[in-house]
Amino acid sequence: MQCPKGCSTPMKKRKEEKIFYRNGKPIVISELTMHICPSCGQESLPLTSARIVEDVLKGKHKPSGKFTAELYEISSIE
Ligand SMILES: [Zn+2]
Repeated sequence: MQCPKGCSTPMKKRKEEKIFYRNGKPIVISELTMHICPSCGQESLPLTSARIVEDVLKGKHKPSGKFTAELYEISSIE
């Protein structure tokens, strides 16, 4: 897969945790395969991952656990 910005280096696969919003509520998908450009850092969601995200957002999968995290809002820091 080639970088959408036209870099000559091929994109690398990386598994990441991504936050998505379903009905306004955040959900986390971990081990989601992303393509990352080593040159410019551009991320791209491969079709297989996009399908998984779509199914999760439609509620086709059961969650395997809960994800809780501390939230830092920039407006409360500055
Ligand atoms: Zn690139």
